[in-house]
Formats: sequence, C-alpha cells, structure tokens
Amino acid sequence: MAYTVCTARSLFRSKCVIFLLLFIAVNGSPPEDPIKCSSNNNSSCTITNSYGMFPDRSVCKAANVAYPASEQELISIVAAAAMAKTRIKVATRFSHSIPKLVCPAGQEGLLISTKHLNRVLKLDVQAMTVTVESGVTLRQVIEESAKAGLALPYGPYWWGLTVGGMLGTGAHGSSLWGRGSSVHDYAVEIRIVTPGNPEEEFVNVRVLNESHQDFYAAKVSLGVLGVISQVTLKLEPLFKRSIAYVQKSDSDLGDQAAIFGHRHEFADITWYPSQRKAAYRVDDRISSNTSGNGLYNFFPFRPMLSVAMAVVRATEENQESLRDADGKCIGGKLVTSTLNAFAFGLTNDGVVFAGYPVIGYQNRLQSSGTCLDSAEDSMITGCGWDPRINGEFFHQTTFSVALSVVKNFIQDIQKLVQMEPKALCGLELYNGIIMRYVKASNAYLGKQEDSLDFDIMYYRSKDPMAPRLYEDVLEEIEQLAVFKYGGLPHWGKNRNLVFDGVIKKYKNAGEFLKVKQKFDPLGLFSSEWTDQMLGLKDGVMIFKEGCALEGLCICSQDIHCAPSKGYFCRPGKVYKDARVCTRLSSDFCFCESCD
Ligand SMILES: Cc1cc2nc3c(=O)[nH]c(=O)nc-3n(C[C@H](O)[C@H](O)[C@H](O)COP(=O)(O)OP(=O)(O)OC[C@H]3O[C@@H](n4cnc5c(N)ncnc54)[C@H](O)[C@@H]3O)c2cc1C
Repeated sequence: MAYTVCTARSLFRSKCVIFLLLFIAVNGSPPEDPIKCSSNNNSSCTITNSYGMFPDRSVCKAANVAYPASEQELISIVAAAAMAKTRIKVATRFSHSIPKLVCPAGQEGLLISTKHLNRVLKLDVQAMTVTVESGVTLRQVIEESAKAGLALPYGPYWWGLTVGGMLGTGAHGSSLWGRGSSVHDYAVEIRIVTPGNPEEEFVNVRVLNESHQDFYAAKVSLGVLGVISQVTLKLEPLFKRSIAYVQKSDSDLGDQAAIFGHRHEFADITWYPSQRKAAYRVDDRISSNTSGNGLYNFFPFRPMLSVAMAVVRATEENQESLRDADGKCIGGKLVTSTLNAFAFGLTNDGVVFAGYPVIGYQNRLQSSGTCLDSAEDSMITGCGWDPRINGEFFHQTTFSVALSVVKNFIQDIQKLVQMEPKALCGLELYNGIIMRYVKASNAYLGKQEDSLDFDIMYYRSKDPMAPRLYEDVLEEIEQLAVFKYGGLPHWGKNRNLVFDGVIKKYKNAGEFLKVKQKFDPLGLFSSEWTDQMLGLKDGVMIFKEGCALEGLCICSQDIHCAPSKGYFCRPGKVYKDARVCTRLSSDFCFCESCD
C-alpha cells in the first residue's frame, strides 16, 4: 500500500512548508459569539452563523436573547414567551449551520441560547449512557465519556458542535456499521420543553424515548418542536482504532464507493477528481491490547495564522479574477499532497507522524477542533473561516446519495471532469470532496436509505454578482445530486436551491408535521425558512438578478446569471435537465447587456 510522504527534500521542493505554516499549532482567538445585542440588557440583537454569512447574506434580528443556565430557567423562559406568543429560536454558542435555521420569524422574536446549558449531568457506567444538557459540545461528550472508559462510537469530525445542534440538523460522521454514524441514532432519551396552553401554564416538558412515536420526530427536529433541554446518549466501552490512508486512482471509484463502507467500520473517502485520485481511509476497530496512542488533530481545524490565511485568500481571488485555472490546479495539488503527506493531522503518539497505521483510542481519534481552544491573541490566529480573519470564504454543498445509485452519480461527475479537466481543481484547494457513509435512520427527518454523503467546499466571492471559475460545472453537480439522483441535502449546510421540494423525499414528513402541530400548534418555533423547507410555504428559491451565482435559485433566465460578464443560463453538459450559468464568450463583456 503506497502513499506519498514529504521527506525533507521533497518537503522543500514541494513547498509543503508554506502550507504547514498555515496550520501552526498555537492557541488561537476563540470564535465570536454569533449573537450581538446593541443594549446591555440582551435586547435589540442580531444573529449570524459561525462564518458570519447566511446564504442570502442577510443578518437576522431578534428583540431579545435569553441565556438559561438550568432546565428550570428554560421552562420559565419558554412559558413567558408562549404566553406572549413571541416567536422563538434556539441558538448555540457557535451557530455552525449555514442556512437560516437559527433566525426567529420576523424581527421581534426571542433567541434562547444554550451557551450556559453546558453541563454533563450523568454518566451511567452500568447502562453505558451519558445524559447532557443540550448546549454540551461533542468534545465534552467525548472527553467525559472517556474518563469513565466509554465512547460515542461515531460522530462528526469537528468537536465544536453542540448536542442540540447535532440533533437539530442530523449531524453525522462516517459508518454503515451498528446504528450508523448519525449522533441522533445514539439518543435514547430526549427532554424537550415546548409551548403549552393556558391550563398548562403555557409550557410542557416532554420526556421522550424509543417507546414514544414523537421521539422519532425529536431526533432530527430542525429546532421547530421546542427547546431540547437534555439528551441521553448510548455509549460503548472505549475501544481502539487503526487508521491508514491509501491513495489510488479514481478509475474504479464508483464501484469502490458502494462497497468500501461495508468493509471498514469507520471508512471514508477523500476524492480529488481533477487529479483522478482518491484517498481511502482504511479505519477499523482493533483489540485494545494493540499498542499505540495515536491522535487526530485535523490540520484545517487547527488555529490558522491570520496573515497566512489572508494571503491564501488573496491568491484565490487573484486566480478567480485572472481565470487562472492552472494556478488553482497547482495549488490544489500542493494542498492535497501536503495534507496527505502529514496524514491530515494524525500522529502516532500525539506529536509525530511516523507512518501508518495510526493506532489509538477512539476518544483521541474520532474528532478534533483545536482552533476553539483559546486564549485571546488579538486575532493573530483563529479558525480558518472566522469572519474576522480575511480568510476562507466558501460555499459548502453537502448531500447524501443513496448507495444504490452512487456509482452512476460518481461516473457523471467523472464525465464532467473528462469534458472540463480543470473545472474541479478549485475544490482541491479545500481538500477535495469528503465522502462519508451514513446509515438509514428511523428519525422522520433522518436519512431514508444507506447513503454516501458528499461534502464539497468551493470559492465564494465577496461580491454576490461575481461568477466563479467553472461556475457551471459546480452548479451541475449540485443539481445532478439532488434532482437526478434524489440526494438529501444536509440540513445544516448548503445553498437554498437544493432544499427546493426537499420534504417530499422524506416518507414520514407527514408524521413529523403532526408532531410539530402537537408540540407547537402556534408555530412559535417556526420561521419562514423552516416553513419553506418543510413545504409549508413557497419561496425556498429567491429569484432576482444574479441569484443562481449564489445558489439562491436555479437559473431560468440569463439575468439570473451574469450576462454582462459572459455567463448565461444554459442546460448542463451531462445532465441536460440542469440549468446552469455557463460562460459563453471567451472575452469578458463589461457592458450592461451584451448583444
Ligand atoms: C467546522 C465545521 C465542521 C463540521 N463538521 C460536521 C461533520 O463532521 N458532520 C456533520 O454532519 N456536520 C458537520 N458540520 C455542520 C453541523 O453539523 C451542523 O451545522 C450542526 O450540527 C450545527 O451544530 P451547532 O451546535 O452549531 O448548532 P446550530 O447551527 O446553532 O443549530 C442548528 C439547529 O439546531 C437547533 N438547535 C440547536 N440546539 C437546540 C436545542 N437545544 N433545542 C432545539 N433546537 C436546537 C437550532 O435552532 C438550529 O435550528 C460542521 C460544521 C462546521 C462549521
């Protein structure tokens, strides 16, 4: 099994060192609170996400924010809001979701932050469960469980997510084994505070477990059922894993993708389509007697030097403005070969990567996110996407495609690469396409079939009217995935268009809506965006000049693209039903309307 290594000489030659500077391991400034209030009594507030930018670039407003520190306080807050018929949304410490899930309806709503609902309440070693408040992060779950010799077997790779947020959006890691990789499928009890009628003093605390039908709605709730107060998660005895990345040609990726996840418990694949390569993560549970104290500290989740991030961003902006696809291809190879050479941040002992396999305990390998650890350092460093750094600014398109059709989907992308070999180099600047396995779930809004989740990040211009290099190819892949292959978008990521008609893909959507009606008949926890996603309102897509460039719409007219810059609405190259912004003229045309 061959894999690339950066030796001292090749390190110098390949400029690996420049990129390692980006991932320097020092403490960084913690992310800002996404909620800001203009007065010091927590009123006149705004909320955004951790990237500082929603898909439509708006900032949401709320009249007030409340920070309960116990379930009792939470109950009083929900009761008072329900009595006043105030619109409510639950917010978290970091607000990681890209779409506007966290915005209360209107501008006079209430945000209930789970920032101080951050305690691990009970670890039951006998039952192998942990009960936490909903603002507890994945990192806390992992660390506290490990202290008792227990582990959450699967979960997201980024440990800054809260338990409430993971249940809110169906967050997952990668596995087809056991109950699969979605955190909500390890929930065995959920306590949720919902509005009540006057006879109930305007509030209800509902305790749900697998014996209640309503539990399957609460497992993935989009935040519309009420405030999850506490969650009990099922754990396993702590175990060890053995991880090795194997890089191969992507010529048989379609076939491999359908079976690889059945062969290895924690398998995932990182695909570099323009290099025609894929890195397979061969990752299995092994005996705890095997020696090894490996650690995963994923480079892109480490504190980044702000200055270096700004240089990288400026380079990318320059490549875009000069249409320098070759530059992106060179950059993409540099990033991916460096990450591969340094094992993506895996080390054999917490310090050095000396070769595969990396063996270690689950709690040290399952997730990371050291850019959150931080003393303030005046923004010398931070998380790479922190809006205060002029660094990463991207779209993130993430959807799961059923394993039964994944081969065809991959082959369609490969056809596009054959037609436009440089079109996907830009993705490789963001480490390519991360492909993770997700199992079918009994959650009403969970995955409907065993699937492979594709996570794609790519350049977003600061100017919403500016088209991207190979705009059309990315748009075509997005439409291929969700419309031709029926892919399910991740609820917490993505651009508006992929949510068009999404609810029709969930066979138990009707059951979910019944529970929503029962828990919150006045829709206090609903908003325009959640109503649109749930098919209760039109308007997921926003049609206006340039809307397709930002993924707010699928173009149906040239004006939805950028005709003055040579981009017109045309059918896809492989998927003829797609409508994408295609560059037709080789010279830019800066006039208002081109003949
Ligand atoms: C760097 C990074 C890495 C990521 N990695 C992964 C990954 O590996 N796998 C993956 O699947 N996703 C990943 N995500 C996306 C992520 O899954 C979702 O965006 C996410 O689950 C959000 O968690 P959060 O705690 O920030 O919640 P938020 O985004 O703040 O909230 C999400 C939704 O849940 C609701 N909610 C939150 N708490 C409660 C509560 N107590 N009661 C009721 N509703 C509540 C909110 O109202 C909102 O609707 C990543 C995101 C980032 C930024």
